[in-house]
Amino acid sequence: MKKRVAVVGGGLIGIAKAYKLLLKYQGIQLDLFEKEAHPGKHQSGRNSGVLHCGLYYQPGSLKAKLAVEGIREMTAFCKEHEITHEICGKVVLAANQQQNETLRELAKRGEANGLQGLQFLSKSELRQPEPMVQATEALLVPEEGIADYKGVMKKLEALIEERGGKVHFNSPVWSVNQTPAGEISIQTATDNHTFDRLLSCTGLHSDRAYKGFTRKKGPLRIVPFRGEYLSFKPEFNSMVNHLIYPVPDIKYPFLGVNSTLMVSGEREVGPNAVLAFKREGYTNSDINLKDTFESLTYVGFLNFLRKNFAFAMGEFASSLSMASFISKAKVMIPEVEASMLEKGSAGVRAQAMDPSGKLLMDFNVEREGNQIHVLNAPSPGATSSLAIASYIIDNYLTNLN
Ligand SMILES: Cc1cc2nc3c(=O)[nH]c(=O)nc-3n(C[C@H](O)[C@H](O)[C@H](O)COP(=O)(O)OP(=O)(O)OC[C@H]3O[C@@H](n4cnc5c(N)ncnc54)[C@H](O)[C@@H]3O)c2cc1C
Repeated sequence: MKKRVAVVGGGLIGIAKAYKLLLKYQGIQLDLFEKEAHPGKHQSGRNSGVLHCGLYYQPGSLKAKLAVEGIREMTAFCKEHEITHEICGKVVLAANQQQNETLRELAKRGEANGLQGLQFLSKSELRQPEPMVQATEALLVPEEGIADYKGVMKKLEALIEERGGKVHFNSPVWSVNQTPAGEISIQTATDNHTFDRLLSCTGLHSDRAYKGFTRKKGPLRIVPFRGEYLSFKPEFNSMVNHLIYPVPDIKYPFLGVNSTLMVSGEREVGPNAVLAFKREGYTNSDINLKDTFESLTYVGFLNFLRKNFAFAMGEFASSLSMASFISKAKVMIPEVEASMLEKGSAGVRAQAMDPSGKLLMDFNVEREGNQIHVLNAPSPGATSSLAIASYIIDNYLTNLN
């Protein structure tokens, strides 16, 4: 009998996994359930659109391995299927002596992760491509780029259907039961289905899905951190020509307010990292009492706040005041002014946290019986999605023939 596999969640991680499963196991029955009307309505369709190549990540971590493999695979996929992308390179800018040191540390990490062509730029070398940008030191990362992730998801959906998989939109999975024999029954808003394996890739709901589907307490909690962007008005697009990033504080998984080129040709500044009052809440007035209560009473969040109060307040201020937001961008682009920018998009990161308040940086996958849960897939999860899919299938989903 054909093995039956359910994938819950139609963001990049779920949809990439469904596609890779059908490539590896032609004989399976595959159903993907997504609660929204189209793929990637949350993190995967609301990110910076950057192809990260592995500069920041701890050598030896799963993130470093899958970012390096992931950018190569994602770029090849975009080329093969004529999806808009560009390897435009990125410049990381230090603003003081301490950041110069961190930048050198990052260059070492990048080299250890196998990046090619990393190059420190002198002030005059930086001025040539980026005349409006200032730095005490700058590192060129030529392998980095941008991609149309919505185009990637559309193509993956078509490939899944071509190979006989079924994608069910408007199909939230409400409950899951596993029989002692290992069969998994799934209840959606309209139907019941039975499967041999379940893969949960539910992004901002990954901790709740783990608890609800397995009836077990999960190892981590998702705390939603919104990232807001400002867009350059078209007449000011020439202010920046590349991806421009500050040296991040490597204590945090957030990369700091940067300036990004979009595949549409627009330029954005952002994102900040503000506690969201709703897991899928894209403005400050988007509030869900249960989500807010859960975050504010979670011991991990309280510990995080205690240890990172100044950081949290600074990010919140940048959400309430455009001047505060722009002051972060001014460090890199001194001449940027509020009149050059308008309100842009926003995304919410599914930030995994442990009870000590530690922000968990690496990808996390848990198996419980015949269920496999992706509990943490932070940035560069979009870049790495095809590589993450192969990693999970090779390590957690063997013997499906
Ligand atoms: C602001 C921001 C900027 C980022 N920038 C970058 C970047 O430049 N480059 C990069 O590589 N990465 C970036 N990332 C990270 C990247 O977007 C994520 O790692 C990736 O999109 C995670 O994909 P996912 O499929 O796990 O989650 P999601 O895209 O959130 O998908 C989860 C899906 O599960 C569905 N779902 C949840 N519960 C259920 C249920 N019960 N039943 C059915 N469906 C359900 C949701 O509707 C959703 O569609 C960024 C993220 C954010 C938020």
